[in-house]
Amino acid sequence: MKTISVEKDPTLGGTCLNVGCIPSKALLHNSHLYHMAKHDFKHRGIEVGNVSFNFDAMMKYKVNSVKALTGGIAMLFQKNKVQLVRGVGSIVAPNKVEVKGDKGVETINTKNILIATGSEVTPFPGVTFDEKQIITSTGALSLPSVPKKMLVIGAGVIGLELGSVYQRLGAEVVAVEFLESIGGVGIDGEVSKTLQKILVKEGMKFKLGTKVMGVRKEGSGVKVDVKAAKGGNKETLDCDVVLISIGRRPYTKGLGLEKVGIALDDRGRVPVNNKFQTTIPGIYAIGDCIHGPMLAHKAEDEGIVCVEGIKGMPVHFNYDAIPSVIYTSPEVGWVGKSEEDLKKEGRAYKVGKFPFLANSRAKTNGEPDGFVKVLADKATDVILGTHIIGPGGGELINEAVLAQEYGAAAEDVARVCHAHPTCAEALREANLAAYFGKPINF
Ligand SMILES: Cc1cc2nc3c(=O)[nH]c(=O)nc-3n(C[C@H](O)[C@H](O)[C@H](O)COP(=O)(O)OP(=O)(O)OC[C@H]3O[C@@H](n4cnc5c(N)ncnc54)[C@H](O)[C@@H]3O)c2cc1C
Repeated sequence: MKTISVEKDPTLGGTCLNVGCIPSKALLHNSHLYHMAKHDFKHRGIEVGNVSFNFDAMMKYKVNSVKALTGGIAMLFQKNKVQLVRGVGSIVAPNKVEVKGDKGVETINTKNILIATGSEVTPFPGVTFDEKQIITSTGALSLPSVPKKMLVIGAGVIGLELGSVYQRLGAEVVAVEFLESIGGVGIDGEVSKTLQKILVKEGMKFKLGTKVMGVRKEGSGVKVDVKAAKGGNKETLDCDVVLISIGRRPYTKGLGLEKVGIALDDRGRVPVNNKFQTTIPGIYAIGDCIHGPMLAHKAEDEGIVCVEGIKGMPVHFNYDAIPSVIYTSPEVGWVGKSEEDLKKEGRAYKVGKFPFLANSRAKTNGEPDGFVKVLADKATDVILGTHIIGPGGGELINEAVLAQEYGAAAEDVARVCHAHPTCAEALREANLAAYFGKPINF
């Protein structure tokens, strides 16, 4: 197809590359290495003397990672003959897009329109972000220095990841969460509790079941008024920087959907059918601006099958096989149903668990925290969900996704030869435990 991409931002790659997945992972990885060098190397026999970090250089590394990848998209556009039109796009008719750019307004006539306008930070009522002291995730990715005390409002994936970065670099980090658990939507309860324990051991503090009532600047700091969700006890917390990470909402501002008669749903999302088609046949939508988890790999895969569908190919998308990862240390990865989901559904299931403490590679590497938990249908042994907290959990989960996508039973994974010694053997053993009732090496 002849393809034109309309982009309002100066660099390509959207949230993921510019202010999301990539910059956060650059900071997570390097702050982890610093933390290891400072607190972990010595007992492994590695002497590096006094370890310190250069925050500016760390930020520069992040900027360069982003630059390399956004530049890569520009090259891919060229290579694949995707024409880029810079400016804000709005749909003025079912086959017409107007782009307001620096050089004026350009009109594009097109057979199909694919909306992929993503999401934006959910505002906090009554709070104005200055991105210096009262910040969103975007501000947290570009702070000029490490704050002494950081309050994170919202202990979901983004809050935990960015909180971890600053905690490792020496900030006192307190995460305030309205719910009684951390990790956000879909995380298995047992994994959530284990993650919290490990993060507390690392020095992060949590105030769960706590509602934030107001945020205000006072003197050189920020004061945050909170109230216990149960009992209503009030308290004021002090900090130098408050990161508000309570979620994201679909972004469709100025897109002109109302002009073509596309009404958003009650959560501001663009409603689509199972072919990602809106109520207007030639207009499609994918990614953060539609239903489903706000994840880059979900957006990417929807894009692929949506376009295949436009070309007349079958459209298949399995929302039960989308992995979620929290890139803390240890990493958390999961796919499919949690135990809480299965209990709610009243489904009979089996649990197979294997601790990394009993995995030879994790133990030898000195990373014994965590476990793999496999949930399989009690009658058929079909895998319903896999939950990993442990070394390389974010990589390991992909094997579980493959198994789930192929409709594997726990026995299928348990009978696959896994390289030794690898952390992936823990996944095999957990499947063995689910299928056979017990693992071999524990
Ligand atoms: C801090 C953070 C960390 C994250 N980490 C991860 C992670 O580790 N893994 C993961 O899977 N996901 C992560 N995410 C989520 C991920 O970034 C999003 O799910 C993903 O970027 C969604 O892709 P998208 O294409 O739907 O939208 P986006 O990436 O938001 O792209 C939308 C694009 O559309 C442009 N646009 C919008 N409206 C218009 C218009 N009218 N005209 C022209 N252009 C327009 C925007 O400028 C933007 O470039 C993270 C998000 C954040 C904020």
